Amino acid sequence: MKACLSDELKPFMEGIKERNPGEKEFHQAVFEVARDVIPFMDKNPRYRELRILERLTEADRIIIFRVTWEDDSGAIQTNRGFRVQHSNAIGPYKGGTRFVPGLQLCVLKALAFEQTFKNSLTGLPMGGAKGGANFNPKGRSEREIMHFCQQYMLELARHIGPNIDIPAGDVGAGQREISYMFGQYKRMSNEFSGVLTGKGVSFGGSLIRKEATGYGCVYMLQNVLEYHGKKLEGQPVVVSGSGNVALHVVEKLINVGAKVLTVSDSKGFVLDQKGIDDTKLNALKEIKFERHESLEVFAKMFGLEFFPGQRPWQVPCKIAIPCAIQNEVSKADAERLILNGCMAVLEGANLPCEREAVELFMRAGVIFVPAKAANAGGVAVSGMEMTQNSMRLSWTRKQLDERLHEVMARIHEKCLQYGLEGNGYVNYRKGANISGFIKVADAMVSCGVV
Ligand code: NDP
Repeated sequence: MKACLSDELKPFMEGIKERNPGEKEFHQAVFEVARDVIPFMDKNPRYRELRILERLTEADRIIIFRVTWEDDSGAIQTNRGFRVQHSNAIGPYKGGTRFVPGLQLCVLKALAFEQTFKNSLTGLPMGGAKGGANFNPKGRSEREIMHFCQQYMLELARHIGPNIDIPAGDVGAGQREISYMFGQYKRMSNEFSGVLTGKGVSFGGSLIRKEATGYGCVYMLQNVLEYHGKKLEGQPVVVSGSGNVALHVVEKLINVGAKVLTVSDSKGFVLDQKGIDDTKLNALKEIKFERHESLEVFAKMFGLEFFPGQRPWQVPCKIAIPCAIQNEVSKADAERLILNGCMAVLEGANLPCEREAVELFMRAGVIFVPAKAANAGGVAVSGMEMTQNSMRLSWTRKQLDERLHEVMARIHEKCLQYGLEGNGYVNYRKGANISGFIKVADAMVSCGVV
């Protein structure tokens, strides 16, 4: 019998909520996929018979552990570490590590679930995972950060490996933290292996890994605009965040001639009506990556306006790229963006747009590209780092950049294949969800009930 969306989606989501009470972010991530995959299963009843979606909403394994370490004053600190190994249907578990205060399991469950479909979309053989700890690196000394990373790895090492689970960085965990964790794993295992990605380039890291998420996002934007017969050059763009993803989005946007009006951080946003240029970007990188200071310093340095405690979505623009954190674009923000004539929204961060915001964008005909398609460039180059480590060779910047271009173009094609609607609107959410799902689901069908 043909299933009606509301007939099946509602009880399905009720079950999810009952089994995962209060886990708002996880509910949101599952809903966003289920709403597209459930109707799609009408054409492929085998997926429904084999309960593929039900199986995919239960992580393969969740590891929660204590991390005890000593700070510079000799006081004992205790944190909670996590690793959600969501699915290894198409390859070893792969996903980032997040060190942020107050980190909740529900956020990691949502991100690991998303990661499985994102990794599938890249076309590379990687399963999905996510992890981290409720540790705040801000204000900690180098020695404290190193000690924390070592103690975190002391436990995590039992559960990962180059053919099992290959963590990477994420918010609060950049190359420095990955390198400390790699050093600890190497010491414990007495083995030099590609167990983490995002390492320093001199010991197995890949060129353009740190740029890849941001660059990939702009390559996706170029594909999207080209398909819609529009140009990126000269377009006013509002970007949020000023971390790894945001600043590499800004770098590539400047490079291709777009006008970047804003960047933001956890304290507020900066507006530059003239558009951020290379000089300002270099200062931004120094302030955020080297000195770890607030954007207020940057605003003062160039006489720009700083808006404390505010998000940049009120600034009129044609393109918006949220690159900071989950749920940073609310329904009201979406209304404002639409009213101001925004034509495209790309999710550089993971799950940055609230569900109601996504619905508003799509209803208004705004091009909306979800994170799993827009920011897949980072994990794609992580996959390339794994390949280079296995082959014991290093590809050049040019080779990697070409591959990254290819991956993003392929993802765009896949989104069109399943997302192009009768009226010509490209539903990138649906295209990415279905395309990401099929590969994982087919692998699960083939491998039997395991
Ligand atoms: P970073 O830690 O480098 O940067 C995070 C940025 O977000 C900083 O500017 C930070 O400000 C800001 N921020 C943090 N919390 C808040 C908040 N509550 N409100 C407003 N701004 C906030 O992280 P990344 O750039 O690596 O990651 C950003 C997003 O992209 C995340 O969602 C991540 O999961 C996603 N992502 C990252 C990938 C990667 O390769 N790094 C790959 C794919 C997705 P402040 O400086 O004040 O802390």
